[in-house]
This record gives sequence, C-alpha cells and structure tokens, in this order.
Amino acid sequence: MESNAVVWFRKGLRIHDNPALDYACRGSSHIFPVFVLDPRYLHPDPSAFSLGSARAGLNRIRFLLDCLLDLDSSLRNLGSRLLVLNGHPEPASVICRILKDWNIRKLCYEFDTEPYGQARDRQVTDFARQLGIEVFSPVSHTLFDPAEVIKKNGGRPPLTYQSFVALAGKPPDPLAKTYSELPPVGNVGNVELLNIPTIEELGYKDIEQEEFSPFGGGESEALRRLNEVLKDKEWVANFEKPKGDPSALWKPATTVLSPYLKFGCLSSRYFYHCLHSVYLTVGKHTSPPVSLVGQLLWREFFYTVAFGTPNFDQMRGNKICKQIPWKDDDKLLVAWREGQTGYPWIDAIMIQLKKWGWMHHLARHSVACFLTRGDLFIHWEKGRDVFERLLIDSDWAINNGNWLWLSCSAFFYQYHRIYSPISFGRKYDPDGKYIRHFLPVLKDMPNEYIYEPWTAPLSIQKKANCIIGKDYPRPVVVHDKASKECRKKMGEAYAKVGSVEEEDNIAASESTA
Ligand code: FAD
Repeated sequence: MESNAVVWFRKGLRIHDNPALDYACRGSSHIFPVFVLDPRYLHPDPSAFSLGSARAGLNRIRFLLDCLLDLDSSLRNLGSRLLVLNGHPEPASVICRILKDWNIRKLCYEFDTEPYGQARDRQVTDFARQLGIEVFSPVSHTLFDPAEVIKKNGGRPPLTYQSFVALAGKPPDPLAKTYSELPPVGNVGNVELLNIPTIEELGYKDIEQEEFSPFGGGESEALRRLNEVLKDKEWVANFEKPKGDPSALWKPATTVLSPYLKFGCLSSRYFYHCLHSVYLTVGKHTSPPVSLVGQLLWREFFYTVAFGTPNFDQMRGNKICKQIPWKDDDKLLVAWREGQTGYPWIDAIMIQLKKWGWMHHLARHSVACFLTRGDLFIHWEKGRDVFERLLIDSDWAINNGNWLWLSCSAFFYQYHRIYSPISFGRKYDPDGKYIRHFLPVLKDMPNEYIYEPWTAPLSIQKKANCIIGKDYPRPVVVHDKASKECRKKMGEAYAKVGSVEEEDNIAASESTA
C-alpha cells in the first residue's frame, strides 16, 4: 500500500540533522520534499525600501535562492528533488491542497517559533488532523525547545542570559543519520510546479548595486565554511566576543555563520556539537557568554524570550519593553538608512549593510545605538525594519531582541554608555580602510580627518576631492550635544517606569551580548 509523506521545508534548508526529513522517510513509499514561495516575504519593488518595507531585500532573496538550488541538488543526488510551489494566496492553503491531492499520510515540518509561522502551522495542522494525517513537527531550528525552558522557569521566559543558561542544560545531540538514497517522489498529478526562480523572475532588479554580498547561500557552503572555522582550533578555543575588530573586511573577526543558521542550512546542534569536539581536543578554551558556544546560547536566549513574550516585536503591549517617547523624524531616519549622516563610521556600516547584508556585531551596535538612544532618538522599530529587509541573516527573534537591547528598551539598561561615532571605529581602524572601501568619496581624505572630515580645512578637502556639504554631507547632529540630550530623555523615560518586567535582575543582564 502507498504511504506518502510530505516534508515541508521552510527554514531547515538542509539534509544533515534534519529530524523532519528523517521521520518523513521512515516507512514511506514516497516523499514529497516541498518548498512554498511565500509572497509575504517578497517585495521586489525598489520603492519598497523607501516606503519602509521590512520584507526581504535583494541580497537575502539571492541567498535564499542559493539555498534552494543547493538543497535541490543534494536531494537529486539522493534520487529525489525539491518541489517548488507558488504560495499564492498564502502557503497554508497551498499545503492543505496538496495534502489532499497527493493522498498524504504523514506531514513533517520543523517547529517554527515565530508568530507568523505559528499561526500558519496551526491552520495546516488542524486541517491535516481532520483528514487523519499524522503531523510531525520537531524542534530543530534551535538547540533547545523554548517551550520547555519556559516551563522549567514556571511559565515565564527567563529574562537574563545567566538565568537562561542555568535553566537550559545540555542540548540534544544532532542526528547522526546520513543517506545513500531517499524514497522516490510520488506522482504530483496536475499540481503546478515551479522551477527555482531567478532573482529577476521574482521581479528583483540589481538596483544601484555594484557590489554584492560575498556570502553565497546553501548547506554545502555552510558546511564548507564551518569546516574552515573548525580547522583553526586555537581560534575557536580563544574566541572572545566582544573582542574582535568590527572593521575587518576580508577576514571577518567572527564566523559569518549567521545567515546559514538563519535559513537552517547549518544545524545549530551540529555547530554546537562540533565546537564541543574542538574544546575536547584543545583543553583550555573560553566560556559563555564570550565563547563561540556562548554566542549560540545568545541566539537561544533571544529565541526563548521572543517565543514567550507577546508583542515582542513592538514597544506597545510588550511587557518587557521600556516605554520611551521616541521621536518621529523621517529626514534623520532616511539619512541614517542611506548612509548619509555625515559620520563616516556610521555611514560606512550602513553601506556595508546595503551591499553585503552582513556587518560585524559591534558595527551593528554602533549604528543601532546612533539611531536610537545615542544620537537621533528614533524608534528602534524603524531601525529594526531596515535591518529586517537588508540583513541576509535577518532573524525575527534575534533582530528584535538585539534592537530591544541596543535601544536600552529591554535586557540592557546602561543608557549612559553611548558608542562614539568618531572614536569607537578609530580605535580599530585608525587609517579608515573600512570607511574608504565603503565610502569611496572619502578615499583620499587624510587619516587624521577620516572620522571627522568636516574638521578638515577647505584646502585639504579640495585636495581630497571631497567638499563637505557638497560631495559628502555635514553631520546631521552634533554628537556631543545630541548624545547629552538623548541621555536626558532616557533618564526621564526611565524615571516614569515604563516596563513591567525588567526587575528580573537588571544587574545580571548587563554584560555585552
Ligand atoms: P558569531 O560571533 O560567529 O556567532 C555565531 C552565531 O551565534 C551567530 O551566527 C549567531 O547565530 C549567534 N549570535 C552571535 N551573536 C549573537 C547575538 N548577539 N544575539 C543572538 N545570536 C547571536 N543576528 C542574526 O543572526 N540575525 C539578526 O537579524 C540580527 N540582528 C541584529 C541586530 C542588532 C541591532 C544587533 C546589535 C545584532 C544583531 N544580530 C543578529 C546579532 C549578531 O550581530 C549576529 O548574530 C552576528 O554578528 C553574526 O555574525 P557571526 O555569524 O559571525 O557571529
């Protein structure tokens, strides 16, 4: 008798350590590996960005398409293939339809913690169960099951990293399973299948872009990159964040595995397991929160809090978020977003975001602090949206969690500690190589003025072919004055006591994520 299973890929775009795939294969005569192109994430119109759309930008969609091509190729090597479906009007109804059309007995997909994913999956699961279809939905995007951690904490998410780590324990091992072949794909009848589209077919144009993200997507690239990282055992053992140069360009100071973890081309359990194997061979190594394992635990921490906090992605109605009267100023927001603040360190980071879709953690700190409590006093949700659209690793829980952190709205409350848009970058890169790369207009500015070009005498500006106010903007605010004003406003907002739950051991949370 036929027993058909669907394995529905969303994140988790991998073969290794994939419990949904493993379960789908068990006892099935056919499996249907499905990916549904979700229109919710696509917004190719270039004006989307200027309209403030947070939906995926060019670099992330390009990364996703790489992931799909790689997954399809791996499945084909195992005698299967990826079935790509059009997700109009929305993926849930598309999946419900194929469950019936393909006479499915088992539906397998990775558990999704995000509110949108939860609502979508509830709809599909209810439908499947009504038809008597078995649904298997394992937790495999994260090391731990956020619901379990919250349960252990008496039903509330732990609000400090330390309390999270104390509760979490040891994660399960990754599946050791490898495949020589998969059950064949069944008959798809008259369901219309798509080829994996190109970026142009999705309507995206290579707008205004001469430089693209140097990071290609897919499981093969993820594992290659992981192996490169693991080869340098000393580096892994001594990894210590926030130490590391945020301006290092061609050899970043961290792993750049975030986009692979985001799409699940790399299993976090497998990554964790590999790090532990290195630790065992080298003996002495750094520890959480600063070690590489510690970084993975930050990821878990934000996933857990995000899962257990209603309205986590907004200020209003979010119990852990300080209520701060942020300013509405579209002109300043656009200057920040477009890399036109007049502060070369800030602008170079924003251009790296636009071109590469990835920046070092401390670079993210700098621009997030500048936009919010440091200089411009603009709402963190606005900055979050820009990151959400442009990052290739854009991740709902982690992005929102870090914006809450950097704006001192939750988790971290030392609002008087502000990153200088001048001296912070200079500490790492006194010659301004990073700035010169992303802001070629400043490439001939002498070192002594590269972080404050408005202070260069006109004769120097002329010699450098960059007149401030004409070729490159003057600073949109005066940092010393703006940051003082921000501190005052933060103090006033804090005095009003705007959030409900931050008393959960404030002091313990004040280490740098
Ligand atoms: P590594 O230092 O090599 O760390 C390994 C992995 O640990 C990362 O890939 C990531 O999965 C995890 N990790 C590291 N730092 C953090 C952290 N602070 N919080 C949670 N997980 C962490 N990271 C994202 O993956 N997606 C986002 O959308 C995102 N938005 C951010 C927004 C802001 C304002 C800030 C300040 C940080 C944000 N981060 C985000 C966290 C962090 O900057 C990136 O995870 C990290 O820079 C990715 O580079 P990496 O893979 O080389 O990190």
